[in-house]
Amino acid sequence: MREKFLVFGAPCIEQAEIDEVVATLKSGWIGSGPRVARFEQAFGAYKGTRHAVAVNSCTSALHLALLASGIGPGDEVITTPLTFAATVNAILHAGATPVLADVDPASMNIDPAHIAAGITPRTRAIIPVHYAGRPCDMAAILALARRHGLLVIEDCAHAIETVYQGKPAGTLGDIGCFSFYSTKNITTAEGGMLLLQTPEQASRIKTLALHGMSKDAWKRYGDAGFRHYLVEEIGYKFNMTDLQAAIGLHQLDRIEAGLNRRRAIWQRYDEAFADLPIDLPAAEEADTRHARHLYTIQVDGERCGVGRDAFLDRMTAERIGVGVHYLSLPEHPAYRRLLGWRPEDYPNALRIGRTTVSLPLSACLADRDVEDVVAAVRKILAG
Ligand SMILES: *Cc1c(COP(=O)(O)O)cnc(C)c1O
Repeated sequence: MREKFLVFGAPCIEQAEIDEVVATLKSGWIGSGPRVARFEQAFGAYKGTRHAVAVNSCTSALHLALLASGIGPGDEVITTPLTFAATVNAILHAGATPVLADVDPASMNIDPAHIAAGITPRTRAIIPVHYAGRPCDMAAILALARRHGLLVIEDCAHAIETVYQGKPAGTLGDIGCFSFYSTKNITTAEGGMLLLQTPEQASRIKTLALHGMSKDAWKRYGDAGFRHYLVEEIGYKFNMTDLQAAIGLHQLDRIEAGLNRRRAIWQRYDEAFADLPIDLPAAEEADTRHARHLYTIQVDGERCGVGRDAFLDRMTAERIGVGVHYLSLPEHPAYRRLLGWRPEDYPNALRIGRTTVSLPLSACLADRDVEDVVAAVRKILAG
């Protein structure tokens, strides 16, 4: 057995980030400034757009996307039950009402047929989540949105490298929201980004992300001369700092190498688990690129002789960190109380949520680590 616990979702931090953070600390400017601007430009270039705005999280990005779209009380927003709480919390923070549409059991992404069934005269937007890095059926979702006059705000927290029919995730709908949380494909410790379609939208988001002020601090305290700021509207405190951007700049430089490493680990898992009584991730769809954020297996107690929760405990006892993405949102008491959701109304998300296990997939896993994961899974399930 391993001596050292294998941490699930460990970030890959290298010397370049460390040096850049130290340089930032010594530069005298650690808040939102020139490195944030460089990171926005570099991320936009990676995604093929000029309108990228950095913020402090994907949760903030989703919240701002809704606010800037004029979505609030009385409006309904359709999203998936198989997502992190942040997706639905952002809708609630904006004052709107979240409506769930069940997922497709194979892709685990929101099912356009269920979206169609959930549309009412109050529906204003759809938030598809590209689950695990696999793009949603965007052709069907965009067609529905056009027919009903709805906005599409993509939750790309898993999908930084995702491409759908030649177009990068986050540029398919109206607004794209990204996360650089510690476990995501690239990280700034905490951080997020929005992709917008026009400079006006980007400028509005920047204003909303910093108290609604007309000039950001870099411009106020820079060497261009003193300028008064004016509060144009009541905004939020959602800005990214240069310390975070310092990390992000170098993470972004290595993004394709990270994806290639996760692809190799993915392929090893696919081969090693092919004979086990578990469901593995579906193959990558034609004309798409999967960002390989989560490798999930479905452990069904009836088929495996060991239940999902017992499997999680036994992996932890083998000193391997595992994750669950996700218990379906209606399993959580807060949403049941507030919105009256019932897990059994979304049976596909319910079943996935009660059987799914995410295995370590960090790009900095050594081959030895990967073989330890394989050995532990086989020890528990190949019996
Ligand atoms: C991580 C995550 C978020 C939230 O990202 P933060 O940057 O932590 O706010 C939102 N949606 C999904 C699907 C996520 O996985």
